[in-house]
Amino acid sequence: MKIERIFAHRVELPLVEGTYRWNNGNSVSVFDSTVVGVETDKGLIGYGEVCPLGPCYLPAYAEGVRSGLREMAPHLLGADPRELGKINQLMDSVLNGHPYVKTAVDIACWDILGKATGLPVCSLMGGRYGEKVRLYRAITQLPPDEMASNVAKYRSQGYTRFQLKVGGDADTDIARIRGAREVLDPSDRLVADANTGWSQHEAMRVVNAVRDLDVYIEQPCLTYQECLAVRRNTTLPFALDENIDSLAMLMRANRDLAMDIVNIKISKFGGLTKAKQARDLCVSLGIGMTIEDSWGGDITTAAISHLAHSTPEELRFTSTDFNSYNTVCNATGAPRRENGFMKASEAPGLGITPIVDAIGPVVWEVSSSSRGSSNAIHQAEPLSRPEPHLNKSVSHQVTS
Ligand SMILES: [Mg+2]
Repeated sequence: MKIERIFAHRVELPLVEGTYRWNNGNSVSVFDSTVVGVETDKGLIGYGEVCPLGPCYLPAYAEGVRSGLREMAPHLLGADPRELGKINQLMDSVLNGHPYVKTAVDIACWDILGKATGLPVCSLMGGRYGEKVRLYRAITQLPPDEMASNVAKYRSQGYTRFQLKVGGDADTDIARIRGAREVLDPSDRLVADANTGWSQHEAMRVVNAVRDLDVYIEQPCLTYQECLAVRRNTTLPFALDENIDSLAMLMRANRDLAMDIVNIKISKFGGLTKAKQARDLCVSLGIGMTIEDSWGGDITTAAISHLAHSTPEELRFTSTDFNSYNTVCNATGAPRRENGFMKASEAPGLGITPIVDAIGPVVWEVSSSSRGSSNAIHQAEPLSRPEPHLNKSVSHQVTS
């Protein structure tokens, strides 16, 4: 089986809540997602999706996905998409770094492997653990009383785990954490995720001020060193996210006892293949995991569900149903949240079918038939389109 064609769609994902806000004034109103198709000479097509959380969160941005594909994808024509290890080695050999660019192609190849074998990706990734996957709800950054109200609202919809977007003014964040904890039951889990937003001394003020509460602290500061300093001076359970972007960092942080939970985002590692490596290492080391991505629609949610559902339950802390945050549905067959849980599809591959009207036209493609011609890469329509409605903070730096 050979890859004959790779193509991309650009999909806008507006938010049900209007705007998603996190640390230091960052926000997004409409996400810019890329859906990638990988087509084989046997007629199978696999799909993947990647959607950065705006350009300020990780070293990734939406137009970079499409630009990176133009650079990388022509080299993949002729390769066997079922050979995931070789596909990843090939992607790494023709494009150094840029894991998010490789993510949708890798996911699409897993989709093909599943369709070719008649198995859901979940089974191929180790097997289905338990009936369903527990979800958390991210609570957009607002004044403390509004965040507490939103926690209560989503709790009434079945969620039992919540991630507060903090990382702003430390005193306000302390009030946010206290207010949210107050509306929860003791069995509910609360995470205060600063998304690198606090300086080390402000982070210490926050953890000291809430040390009597049952709350997890996630990625308080920008650098690993700062986070480690906070970790070593608090008894609160601790999660790392932005700093853990490779197996090397995961092993280093484990050696330093730097976290109890690690956040595995598929596109941070470069696709399901590498996220699975990190997941399997965490399973061996006994580290709990939040399994998700930076953002995405139904195809991303399906990919998350397969990685999460094939993870032992005792280490599966939380996961995310991004498709319930968006107003647009870009594929059928993706898991839909039921009372705070989701399930990976039992259909072959990811179990999804893109909705033609939702994903729109092909914005870029490359195929074996076009590669040898003078116009080597067919460009279906101009790539440079205006960025969607990004609400960019004034002087934000790339966070990791
Ligand atoms: Mg996080």
